[in-house]
Amino acid sequence: MTTAIFDYLEMMVVFSPCAHQGCDRYALGRTQFCLRHQPDFNTAIPEVLQHLQSQQNLVGWNFSELTFSDLVFSEKYVASCLFSHGVFPSIGFRKCRFENCFFDFSLFSDCSWHECVLHNCTFAGSEFSSSRFEESTLFQVSFNGITARNINFSSSDLFRSLFIGSSLHGALFEDCNLKRVNFCRSERQNVQFKWSNEMEAIFSEDQSSRQRIYPLERF
Ligand SMILES: [Zn+2]
Repeated sequence: MTTAIFDYLEMMVVFSPCAHQGCDRYALGRTQFCLRHQPDFNTAIPEVLQHLQSQQNLVGWNFSELTFSDLVFSEKYVASCLFSHGVFPSIGFRKCRFENCFFDFSLFSDCSWHECVLHNCTFAGSEFSSSRFEESTLFQVSFNGITARNINFSSSDLFRSLFIGSSLHGALFEDCNLKRVNFCRSERQNVQFKWSNEMEAIFSEDQSSRQRIYPLERF
């Protein structure tokens, strides 16, 4: 891995490699090094987090492996950013828009997304506890392989989102759009689909292949 290029329509994002010889990770924020090779860790990390907090528009930054304590995500536009392997304790996201962002293999505890829009983002392999997405639009968001305990998606549109192979223990999908949401091979305990169209979701491989042959339109 040297440089990753994400080309979305007119937007091209290039992540710089870490300047440490032989390291194949991406440089963190505006620094030259990844998290583990920061020469002045105690100065660099607060500066990276301050940059994240102060900007309303963030495109093409790597914030992987960070712990996001005491941060407020309010009315931010965030595109093509990496938050992989992050730790999110009691973080609130309010009226934010995330596009093509990676939150994979992260830990979320007591987090909330309220009136947020997420397009083509991934939380694959992450762990959630006591967290909620409310009144949000989650379009083609991957929750594949997540482990979630006490998670709430009330009043959200999850069109074409994925929960393949996930473990859901105590999940509430109340008044949600679940059209073409894929729950194949998921483990579900105490999962409620109150006032939602779960009959239009996909729960088996057979159902999935039928929908590929006869794709449903959204409207
Ligand atoms: Zn490095």
